[in-house]
Amino acid sequence: MSECIDYTKTSLMEVYGENCFSDAVMRERLPGNVYHELKAVQAGSKKLSTQVAEVVANAMKDWAIERGATHFTHWFQPLTGLTAEKHDSFISPRPDGSVLLEFSGKELIQGEPDASSFPNGGLRATFEARGYTAWDTSSPAVVKDLQGVKTLTIPTAFISYTGEALDKKVPLLRSMSAINKEALRVIRALGNTTCTRIFTNVGPEQEYFLIDEKFYDQRPDLRLSGRTVFGTMSAKGQEMDDHYFGAIKERIGLFMKELNYELWKLGISAKTQHNEVAPNQFEIATIYESANISTDTNQLLMEVIKNVARHHGLVALLHEKPFAGVNGSGKHNNWSIGTDDGQNLLGPGDSPGENVQFLLFLTSVIKAVDTYGTLLRLSAATSGNDHRLGANEAPPAVISLYLGNTLTEILDCIAEDRPLVKRDGKLVELGLTTIPTFPMDDTDRNRTSPFAFTGNKFEFRMVGSSQSLASPNTMLNVAVAEVLSEVATRLEQADDTLTEVKHIIKEFYTSHKRIIFNGNGYAPDWLEIASNRGLPNLTNTVEALSHLDDPEYTKLFGKHGVFTAAELHSRKEIYLETYSGQLHIEAGLMVEMAKRRAIPAANRYLKDLLSTMEAQMSFGMTPRSQKTLAQNLFDHIESALDALESLEQTLVDVLETKGDALEEARYYHGKVVPVMEILRSHVDELERLTEKSYWPYPSYEDMLFHL
Ligand code: ADP
Ligand code: MG
Repeated sequence: MSECIDYTKTSLMEVYGENCFSDAVMRERLPGNVYHELKAVQAGSKKLSTQVAEVVANAMKDWAIERGATHFTHWFQPLTGLTAEKHDSFISPRPDGSVLLEFSGKELIQGEPDASSFPNGGLRATFEARGYTAWDTSSPAVVKDLQGVKTLTIPTAFISYTGEALDKKVPLLRSMSAINKEALRVIRALGNTTCTRIFTNVGPEQEYFLIDEKFYDQRPDLRLSGRTVFGTMSAKGQEMDDHYFGAIKERIGLFMKELNYELWKLGISAKTQHNEVAPNQFEIATIYESANISTDTNQLLMEVIKNVARHHGLVALLHEKPFAGVNGSGKHNNWSIGTDDGQNLLGPGDSPGENVQFLLFLTSVIKAVDTYGTLLRLSAATSGNDHRLGANEAPPAVISLYLGNTLTEILDCIAEDRPLVKRDGKLVELGLTTIPTFPMDDTDRNRTSPFAFTGNKFEFRMVGSSQSLASPNTMLNVAVAEVLSEVATRLEQADDTLTEVKHIIKEFYTSHKRIIFNGNGYAPDWLEIASNRGLPNLTNTVEALSHLDDPEYTKLFGKHGVFTAAELHSRKEIYLETYSGQLHIEAGLMVEMAKRRAIPAANRYLKDLLSTMEAQMSFGMTPRSQKTLAQNLFDHIESALDALESLEQTLVDVLETKGDALEEARYYHGKVVPVMEILRSHVDELERLTEKSYWPYPSYEDMLFHL
């Protein structure tokens, strides 16, 4: 990837942030007044002036050129869920044949990529198929380095000329403003005068698989869809639980070392790494940042993981479910609300006052998750994630909230006006004003909960490993902003703030405690309990996404200025189309792999088996078990061919739904997926029955136990 560093000789301090146009770099390179003005722009208290942009652009260009960059790019996040970039060089030719290297303020602030080919869900008529990218001053520019090819990469928002959001960043930024506004009102009402800005912090834990690239190259399904559409589990799966937190193998260690250095160079705070539950599955976590920055850096991190893996003859699989039968990959989204006066509003404090504030924010999140659980669920709805959520894997598709026993008990006592019995047997009055320091000693973790309180943050565990963090955090922010707006209004109008706070805590908890579940989310009876509690169970992407523009949500997003009705509708269309598109590819791959590879391979084996049996019989031998095997092979070949034919027919029939994104996606989910499963069952059985050397692509055993 980048110029070779000898990692054994290079200290982390030497490289950390060297390719990041960080705050420290800006402070050093910008004139004081420009730096301060830019800070004010970042804080949202000032508009960016062309003069400031001009100076920053120049400093950024010099800095990037010193690092060997020849090009710059406005980097953005269209609704494909990926990132997009178009590179421009800094050169500006002169009449005498020489060039100047230039980068203007205007080029920094705004770009005009030819955006007509990005999905827009009907937002822009083709005659004005133009969008522009706008510099996001709040997220640092970096120099991306691909084997020495260096590009100044500027995070931008992608907007249509009429101002509509065409990307994932704009709504996220809007949602951050919404929560800033409402949370500020709340803490002002609580008497805080020092805080001027509130933001949501996000720390992602990213899971991924690594496999040897020689196997990857032989699997068209992995190359084209990111997951194996066929494959039988090897004799060993994850039953032994011997991979989780196991010793990191040398080859992986070397990969992780380079990965860390590459991330550190970009100023990305790679912190934790370990083996995950499934064989060849790993996790990396970066330290939390504001939601916007974490979203950007996580996109970069996914790119870097993929690139660095290749240097080690590996391929990183970020798909939610590359392999059936072992755990899928998620991206735990650790989320909290921070203030610029140094508080974590979801952290229990040391004093009674802090704890009242904590309980108010905590119960507000409880209410938000209960009221807008569907939005959270649908923010993690993708075809890849359907193999995790609702498919006997943690977390389940039902949104619930894990509080832990201590907090549940405290809130129960408050709700029922009971004193709390502490572990030492002492009674503690929970009059709120005298609320004691919480005995937060039980950090009992519940790994099966989709939304767990983990001490001073919530961990949203539904997010898929390949997903952008933008949508889940947008939903979370808006849901909580809406509840905080109600809280603020009530506190602003209250005669006695503290009494009202108590009312709110009690009321929110009592009315929304159905969302709290501290038990095992895997347990089958949980689904029944959830259903009795009236909690929605949206088991698949299509049904989840169908709610995106429900009237109540359209109103909610409109109120907080996060999505217009048109933006919301276009997103629903695009996400549904993406779902259908993915399934179309997977079904096509199955047809191709079954018809032209797997079934012919099984037939070759059957033919050889039959000639062996013939030879045996001519010697007077009577093959019995072999006959059964041959018959079995034959039956599965026939059944696979039948399923193949049905699958091909569904792929013709689906064309009738074209033009209606929801109907089409429903067809894929309801009609295509079940036939895919039938075909898979026969092809996988054939793989089990066929001698290995006949099989046309690498097995699970090859891919999962070779590193
Ligand atoms: P786990 O035990 O779940 O692995 P860690 O303590 O390792 O938890 O943290 C996981 C992630 O949570 C990291 O990205 C970390 O930076 C992030 N995190 C820690 N505190 C906060 C917070 N207050 N807000 C948001 N994220 C946080
Ligand atoms: Mg965690």
